[in-house]
Amino acid sequence: MARYTGSVCRLCRREGDQLFLKGARCYTEKCAFKRRATIPGVHGADKMRKKQTGYEVQLRAKQKVRRTYGILEAQFRKYYEAASRKSGNTGTNLLHQLETRLDNVVFRMGFGISRAQARMWVTQGHFEVNNRKCNIPSYQLRPGDEIKLLDNSKVRKTVKDIMEISSSREVSAWLQVDRENLKGKFLALPERSQLDPKIQEHLIVEFYSR
Ligand code: SF4
Repeated sequence: MARYTGSVCRLCRREGDQLFLKGARCYTEKCAFKRRATIPGVHGADKMRKKQTGYEVQLRAKQKVRRTYGILEAQFRKYYEAASRKSGNTGTNLLHQLETRLDNVVFRMGFGISRAQARMWVTQGHFEVNNRKCNIPSYQLRPGDEIKLLDNSKVRKTVKDIMEISSSREVSAWLQVDRENLKGKFLALPERSQLDPKIQEHLIVEFYSR
C-alpha cells in the first residue's frame, strides 16, 4: 500500500497552514510551522510573495484536504469521481467519503493521536467493526456501525493513555465514544456545518472539473 513517507511538517509549510499531522507535537511550540511558516525550498519566499492564479488556488485547496486526510492523488481522484456520480452536492459527498474512512473515525474518536497513527493501528489489525476484525483503513463506515479496539490488543494500554491525554479533545457530535470500554459508534453522516469550515470543497470540485 503506497503512502507518503517524507517530512509531514513540510506539507504544512507548503500549504501555509497547520494540518495537525504529527499529534501532540502540533500543539506545542516545537511545531515546525509555528517556527518557520514559509514555503519549503530555495524559492519559497518568492512563491509566497507571488499572487496565486485561479488554478493554483484550486490546486492548493485540493492538496490541503488530501494531505490532511493522508490520501494519495489516485485514491483522492477516485473519491471525487464517486462523489460526482452520487446525487446531492459533490463537495459534501466528497467530504463524507473522507470522514467515513475507518482510519479517520478511529482518529476522531480519540483512539489515535493523529490520522497516521490511527491508520497504522487499523492496518495492524487492532480494531473490529461490528464484531469483525477490519484492517482496511479506507473501509467506509455506515451509520450504526460499531468500532471497537480488540480486547487482546497489544496497544490497549497506549490507547488508554492517549485517551486520557486527549480527554479535552471534543468528540464530533456524529460519533459516540465509550472511553471505558474503548469502543464507539458511528451515529450518522455529519452535516456540512459539523465539518471543518476552513475546507473549500467547491474549489476542489472546480479543480477536477476543469
Ligand atoms: Fe504540521 Fe504538526 Fe508539523 Fe506543526 S508539528 S508543522 S502542525 S505536522
